[in-house]
Amino acid sequence: MQTNELNRDTLRRLAELRPERGKVVSLYMSLDPKEFATPQARTTQVHSLLDDGARRVKELDGLSHDDRKGVDADLVELREFLEGDDFVPEGAHGIAAFRSSQADLFELIRLPRPVTPRIFIDDSPLIEPLAEMVSAGNWALLLLSRRTARLLRGSPSRLDEMREFRERVRGESDEGSRAIDQRSVDAEVKDHVTNAAEELHTRFRRRPFDRLLVGCSAELWPGLESRLHADLARRLAGRFDVEVERSSPQQVLEAAAPVMEEDDRRREREALDRMAAGLGAGGHGAAGLDETLAMLTERRVETLLFEEGFSAPGVVCGSCGWIGTEGASCPVDGSELEQRDDVIESAVELALEQAAEIVVVHHHDDLGTRGSIGAVLRF
Ligand SMILES: [Zn+2]
Repeated sequence: MQTNELNRDTLRRLAELRPERGKVVSLYMSLDPKEFATPQARTTQVHSLLDDGARRVKELDGLSHDDRKGVDADLVELREFLEGDDFVPEGAHGIAAFRSSQADLFELIRLPRPVTPRIFIDDSPLIEPLAEMVSAGNWALLLLSRRTARLLRGSPSRLDEMREFRERVRGESDEGSRAIDQRSVDAEVKDHVTNAAEELHTRFRRRPFDRLLVGCSAELWPGLESRLHADLARRLAGRFDVEVERSSPQQVLEAAAPVMEEDDRRREREALDRMAAGLGAGGHGAAGLDETLAMLTERRVETLLFEEGFSAPGVVCGSCGWIGTEGASCPVDGSELEQRDDVIESAVELALEQAAEIVVVHHHDDLGTRGSIGAVLRF
């Protein structure tokens, strides 16, 4: 069993995972401290998830003897693992577990925020809830005062402090002579800001983030902004006010939340506007389920947009991956189409396979009149 963090690479790898034989059990478990703080509450959740899983296996048609045996064993194994002493999901707000003994798959993903508990048995991992979380973005928050620099990373629901960052920047700043008059104090502050900007870029190259927010005084801001590398400037969402030296990650998150939400709104707005501008003959936009699925099948999607929680039934071709809203046989190769309760899961997988960005729309209702889904096209 391997444990991984949720990011774009993990998501894309899971989207492309389609074992040649056997079924995959996908299990989402919430570790929301408000609801599932006690071991008993967690055990109850595990039981009801796995009971639901057992029911789903019974309902599945056309399962081979081996597949059924495999899934039954996988469910028992998941129950033992999730109730066992080895399962210590420290710091995670939820987990996703993917198990298929027949495909030799057992992977755990730590989630940055709680999820609706659910279990699913299919030919490939269920990844739509993960796509929604990745769409919320991978943030870096730099906190800067005249003496200190801190770095926190995470999502709008959780931030973790990168503790060595403060030491690294301070170490650099302490080199050289001691400040005695005001001019050299100013020079030291300048060096400190430069060091912070450079160290941030080093971190970014090692482990990239999507968006950057800076907590510093209005006085320090112009100096920092002018020293940010172009890679960082491009990702900058803005500045916010925060107590730099002593705020806990939770307090930083509270101070930053309005700016993060505003940036989210803006990002959704831009994608929606690009989509709308591209609608019509020859344009680079698509709207509605039929058209969007067709564009995904043609691998033309640059950004897939859909409303939060949107799901719709559809059909999928098991041999070539064609997806649509209805039909009995695949228009490409004539294979029999499989009925899906939720074709959006397949749409997300196809979008990730073509390296499309996924924007789950929370803040605007433009898609309401356009079938809840749309796309910006590459060509
Ligand atoms: Zn096909």
